[in-house]
Amino acid sequence: MLSWPDELTTELRHDLFGWCELWSVPTLADEVTVAVSRRLTSSLGRANYRHQRVTLQHTLLHPMAAALLREVLCHELAHLAAYRLHGTKIRPHGREWKALLIAAQYPPNVTYAAESLPACFAVHKRFRRPPARRSSWARLTQWIAGIPCAVR
Ligand SMILES: [Zn+2]
Repeated sequence: MLSWPDELTTELRHDLFGWCELWSVPTLADEVTVAVSRRLTSSLGRANYRHQRVTLQHTLLHPMAAALLREVLCHELAHLAAYRLHGTKIRPHGREWKALLIAAQYPPNVTYAAESLPACFAVHKRFRRPPARRSSWARLTQWIAGIPCAVR
């Protein structure tokens, strides 16, 4: 049974099931836990294979971040799908993972590849500690500016 946070739309939930069908891992949709975290600040999303969990940074809930939220969810979910399909010895952002992103019509060109799960969409060090008293949107745009990958 999919664990789905209230903050996320049912459309996005539908997308998740669609991607799992597309990637031939339909059971993943039922088993994955999706969470939104306020404590996750070092990356926009994380995938944890052992716990079959995807964690999304709460700033992605901003209405202006809807497209990015969808892409980050797809990115993280694809990590779990790639391991399910090919085993855990593959590279996190290797060809198996890229093929899934392409199938979902997203560019797979993450150049700042995380060396290991769970951290991905890792940000440049100088953006690690956002200034206090910034709005979540200001912080998010700053983080995005600091991510040297395709996500904009
Ligand atoms: Zn990743």
